[in-house]
Amino acid sequence: MKCIICPNDANATGSHIVPASLIQNCVGKHYKEESYSIDAKDVKIDVYFGRDNLKNKSPEIKESHYKEDHILCQDCEDNLAKIESEFSTNFLQKFREEKFKQNFSTNTTVYGVEIVTPRNFDNKKVYFYLYSIIYRFCINSGRKTGEFFMEADDLENIRMYIEGYLYGEKLTSEEHLKDFNLIITFDKANKNGSFVSSANQFTNPYIFYFCEPILLLFKGKLSTEARHIFGDYVNHILEDQNIKIVINSEFYDAYRNVMAKYLAETFITNAINNLSNLNGKSYDENFVEFNLEMKKFDKDDSEQSIKAYNLLFLKYSTNIG
Ligand SMILES: [Zn+2]
Repeated sequence: MKCIICPNDANATGSHIVPASLIQNCVGKHYKEESYSIDAKDVKIDVYFGRDNLKNKSPEIKESHYKEDHILCQDCEDNLAKIESEFSTNFLQKFREEKFKQNFSTNTTVYGVEIVTPRNFDNKKVYFYLYSIIYRFCINSGRKTGEFFMEADDLENIRMYIEGYLYGEKLTSEEHLKDFNLIITFDKANKNGSFVSSANQFTNPYIFYFCEPILLLFKGKLSTEARHIFGDYVNHILEDQNIKIVINSEFYDAYRNVMAKYLAETFITNAINNLSNLNGKSYDENFVEFNLEMKKFDKDDSEQSIKAYNLLFLKYSTNIG
C-alpha cells in the first residue's frame, strides 16, 4: 500500500485519522447517541465503550475508531503528529482559558459572533492541520465504506497541497486550495464536542464533524447569500493570512443540530425498514409501533430512538429464533 499523501510505502502503524486530542471528549464517555460513530444508513451504532462504562461487558478495551495501520508513511505520520501536538498546545488547550487570553486576538461581529485568531502560532499551520484531517477522514472513509464525502478532484487538490506543504514549496502548494473557503467553529463554552462524522448529503458546503471542530467547506465562489451570512468568518488560504475561528456556542450548536437532525431522520427511516424486513409488516405498521415504543422513553432522552429500535429488533429477532 502506498502512503495516501506521498509516493512512499505506507509503513506507519497506529496513525490517527482524526487526532486523539480533538476527539477525546467524544469517545469513551457515557453512551450518548450524538457522541458516537453512528452509521445511520445501516442502523449500526458503533460505540466505543470506555473502561468505566457500565455497558462495557467486554473485558477488552476497544481500540479507538480513528486509528489505522498502513495508511501513511512514517515521514508523513511524524510530520502530521508534530503539527497536531502544536495545535493542541497552542489552541485546544488554551482558547477557553481566561489566563491565555493574550494568546489570541478576538473580534466580535456586529451580530455578536466571537472570532479568535491565535497570535503565537503560525496560522498557515492551522490551515494545514484542518485540511489534513479532512483529507485523511475522507480517504479512510472511502476505503472502508465507499463513501468519500468529497469529489475525487477536490480530494486530489487537497492531497497535492499537503504533499507540497510538507516536501515542496509551501507557498506554491496553497494554489491547490484556491477553490475552497473554509469556516471553522469550536464551542467556547463546552468541551463535549459533536460527532465524528460527515454525510454525502452535505455538498456545498461540505460539513465535517471532528468532535471538537465543525468545519464548513465551500467550493467555488461564495453565493451572495453565503457571503452575507459567512463573510466575516470565511477563510481562504490565498486571501486571508490570518485564520478566523468562530467560537460562539450558538453558532456551533446551529451546525451541530444540522447533523443531529439528519442522523435522527436517517436512523429512524432505516430502522423501520430493517424492522419491516425482519417481521414482514408494512413500513406504516412498523412506524406506528416504533413511535409508540419511543414515547415510553423520556422525550429528552437522546437515546430514545436507539432504545426503541433495540427493543423492537430484539422482539422480532426472538420471534424468528
Ligand atoms: Zn507519505
